[in-house]
Amino acid sequence: MRKKIVAGNWKMNNDLTMTTDLIESVKSKLNFNTDTQVFISPSFPFLHEAIKKCKGTLINVTAQNINENESGAYTGEVSSSMLKSIGINSVIIGHSERRQYFNECDSTLLKKVNKALSENFKVFFCIGENIDDRNNNNYFNIIKQQLNNTIFNIDKIDVNNLIIAYEPIWAIGTGLTASPDQAQEMHSFIRKLIKDKYGSKISKNLSIIYGGSVKPSSARDIFGKTDVDGGLIGGASLKAQDFIDIVNSI
Ligand code: PEP
Repeated sequence: MRKKIVAGNWKMNNDLTMTTDLIESVKSKLNFNTDTQVFISPSFPFLHEAIKKCKGTLINVTAQNINENESGAYTGEVSSSMLKSIGINSVIIGHSERRQYFNECDSTLLKKVNKALSENFKVFFCIGENIDDRNNNNYFNIIKQQLNNTIFNIDKIDVNNLIIAYEPIWAIGTGLTASPDQAQEMHSFIRKLIKDKYGSKISKNLSIIYGGSVKPSSARDIFGKTDVDGGLIGGASLKAQDFIDIVNSI
């Protein structure tokens, strides 16, 4: 059975007080009978506090980035062992904003994924096409290429530790959501590629979540599609009630 997952990517938003207030609010509203895995991803300075606040709850705390090296002279970077030492064991890798603004290319992303998986992190690996590739009907090629250049170089995939997030760039933070059919079309394409590469058992059990302007009003229809196993939520995860409504839409 595939896991249902909703993760909130808080990006570079909120100070310490706003972060802890948002955590408290999410905690108070979350239904404790949910079998959906819930993640929040505050900024690095607040991860330790977030871990402490979420202890004993169903909320998992995830990092927004990781460095591929063990330690050393990498000013401004954060290693897997640092994250582990405060209780973080999951990370978002390959977000389009990291690719676009911080020049993270496929080969770097593969190193990051390998490092994170080797340290037993759960990895949310993001892929997605831009608007030109969507309009030129080149989106399947782009997604295939992104997978071939990155995670498809991994021999064995552990479905408990890898989650694919399909995030069309044109839908991130734009208010434009992929339609449920567009999401399903791509998710089933990705699942087919996974089946061809790793076999049907892995493809059936690997969670593929959707990200791109998901709102409480659109979540149910998108999550209702066969191959959509949840969502990576940006803007709407900064409002506790919206985030909880999205979690409850699965
Ligand atoms: C994201 O950044 O991963 C994302 C999906 O953002 P938004 O929901 O704001 O489009």
